[in-house]
Amino acid sequence: MSKLLNSKNRRLDGRKLDELRPIKMKVGVIDNANGSAYIEFGRNKVMAAVYGPKDVHPKHMMKTESAILKCRYHMTPFSTGRRKNPAPSRRETEISKIISEALEPAIVMTDYPRTAIHVYVEILQSDGGSRCAGVTAASLALADAGINMRDLTSGCAAGKIDGKVALDLDEVEDMEGDADLPMAILPNLEKVTLLQLDGDFSHKEFIEALKLAKKGCLKVYEMQRNALNDKYFGNEKA
Ligand code: ADP
Repeated sequence: MSKLLNSKNRRLDGRKLDELRPIKMKVGVIDNANGSAYIEFGRNKVMAAVYGPKDVHPKHMMKTESAILKCRYHMTPFSTGRRKNPAPSRRETEISKIISEALEPAIVMTDYPRTAIHVYVEILQSDGGSRCAGVTAASLALADAGINMRDLTSGCAAGKIDGKVALDLDEVEDMEGDADLPMAILPNLEKVTLLQLDGDFSHKEFIEALKLAKKGCLKVYEMQRNALNDKYFGNEKA
């Protein structure tokens, strides 16, 4: 029996299968950091801030030919329906690592030898897809910090609910659905820097979900450019 889709293939929040949640982005929201961004991705509320390039501690982590990138993804205790334990979880450690790997190919790391770039992603409120929202916000914060970059990193997930491929699952769809495929791309370099799969797809569904997630990432990229333009060039669109 269908739980997540009605007879017209509308989702519980009224969205079509290929529809993103409403998204808001703002660049430059924390005065004390070198760069920052705030994103709302549906009910997800995410703050990202960047410090650096700065000295490396401990010194043995330093690379003579390039910067090192240190990312921390963290969910606040009030970000979920029930108080989340503030201690770092294995999930947060994993997501910190994959966010770092999704961002690094976009950064010209060799421009900053012997330094560290610190990226902090705080999930203020979560509702499924927070890693994609997090990586998207972090990329904007890096650009806002003036870090030399080859491209932005843009994230969006696709998944499967009630047997149908759908874009940008929320928490209920993620929990009750059949599969979730978070993705991040470098849109201009046409590279995928984050791809995970939780659940089952047939081969055909997997290809369909990949295409849909890419479409979502490209829409997210357009909004990232607009958010950067809003801060740096007034309201001119890209
Ligand atoms: P993502 O947020 O990237 O989709 P998951 O698939 O692991 O990551 O989580 C889906 C959603 O489940 C999260 O966005 C969040 O709303 C919820 N969630 C994750 N971890 C917890 C937790 N420890 N406590 C309560 N809710 C959580």
